[in-house]
Amino acid sequence: MNVAKQLYQLQEVDLELESNEQAISQIASQLGESQAVVRAHTKLTLEQQRLEELERQQRSAEWEIDDLMVKLAAAEDKLYSGSIRNPKELTNLQHEVDGLKARRDQLEDKALEIMSQVELTEASVASMSSELKRLEAKWHRQQQQLSSDMEQLKVIVSDLKHKQQLLSAQIDPGEIKFYQELKKQKGTAVAKVEQGICFGCRISLSTTALQQVRSGNLVRCSNCGRILFLA
Ligand SMILES: [Zn+2]
Repeated sequence: MNVAKQLYQLQEVDLELESNEQAISQIASQLGESQAVVRAHTKLTLEQQRLEELERQQRSAEWEIDDLMVKLAAAEDKLYSGSIRNPKELTNLQHEVDGLKARRDQLEDKALEIMSQVELTEASVASMSSELKRLEAKWHRQQQQLSSDMEQLKVIVSDLKHKQQLLSAQIDPGEIKFYQELKKQKGTAVAKVEQGICFGCRISLSTTALQQVRSGNLVRCSNCGRILFLA
């Protein structure tokens, strides 16, 4: 077999190998933690903390109201018991009852406000939590798909490397070295010749060059420098 054909076959394997190796590193960059999942998780944790804080405020407001109601009941009992006859003392007590009632109304408004915030936050925790579950499930499916794609690519790459070795073993090491250097410079080292045209640079070859290619000699395109292979 002529060297140009052997090098062309090697190049086909090398290019396929390169594209599969690129696909592998692309998949490798997508494997691992998902930013979307991490963000959703952080958002949920913050909202849960906010809910806990609101619930704590709600309990504390309720305790304060209970405490106030006890004080108010005691003050009202005293006021209406008839045991206090001193007008100044009665007025003072009436003021105390009024003050406690005003404070109770204030606290009840505050408790209602907190309760409505608790309800809203509970709803947003529930929706964030289901969003997180959805993202995690999606991420899990993607990771499984990527891992299985990766396994398939690794098998293909290992086959191609085997082919590469077999082909290389049949070619003179000096020619392989020359081919590799040329390929490094140009991306492809061997160009097909079809209808008298070099497919590396799309330039028509001279009759002499074509004759040399036909004779099986190792010929390079005078324009692009690639090794010519008559397909
Ligand atoms: Zn050319």
